[in-house]
Amino acid sequence: MQIYNFELGPIGVNSFLIIPEGADAVLIDAPEGSFEQAQKTLARSGDKIGHVLLTHAHWDHIWDAAKFQSAGAKICAHKDGQALMETPSSQKGYMFGLDGLSPAKIDVFLRDGQTLKFGDLAIEARAVPGHCPGSLAFVVESEKLAFVGDLLFAGSVGRTDFPGGDFSALEKSVREKIYTLPDSVKILPGHGGFTSVGEEKASNPYVRP
Ligand SMILES: [Zn+2]
Ligand SMILES: [Zn+2]
Repeated sequence: MQIYNFELGPIGVNSFLIIPEGADAVLIDAPEGSFEQAQKTLARSGDKIGHVLLTHAHWDHIWDAAKFQSAGAKICAHKDGQALMETPSSQKGYMFGLDGLSPAKIDVFLRDGQTLKFGDLAIEARAVPGHCPGSLAFVVESEKLAFVGDLLFAGSVGRTDFPGGDFSALEKSVREKIYTLPDSVKILPGHGGFTSVGEEKASNPYVRP
């Protein structure tokens, strides 16, 4: 398995390209520029993107989803993010004046606790509401990785002042779905630097274990 991280888009979203053994590549989050970046990276190995997994449907994480979909990739997300995803105008108020977000449809609805298999790679989807409706974390146990979107950042947490945000739900998600993972699990947030479960349990000022 190979994994690449790209920081892309006007507000720096972490996008992750995973190339498993025995399956098409998987992309976690699709910020602006991720389509071109993924094409460029995959051109070397001849792989293609089979699935795009979305941690949530905020504009900065889904900007290129429609491009991947047109190219044949399956868009996988929680059904509670469907309205945000398919009706980009609903996000206009906080797109910082940007325009032109193309709607994409969700092909595969992901449920809490569902394990997705891509060749030798197993990814568990965990519902982590709080930052916005339909927020998911993706846990790869074999590699000790947790992709958490905008739920939790190094020393911080996601905003809960956007429509559908709820701080007490976020707190519960972090405590029950992330802090229950082993301390050594690496946390890969939607923005900024990486951290670990142990580090956040010890020092995150917003959500105490
Ligand atoms: Zn967000
Ligand atoms: Zn974001």
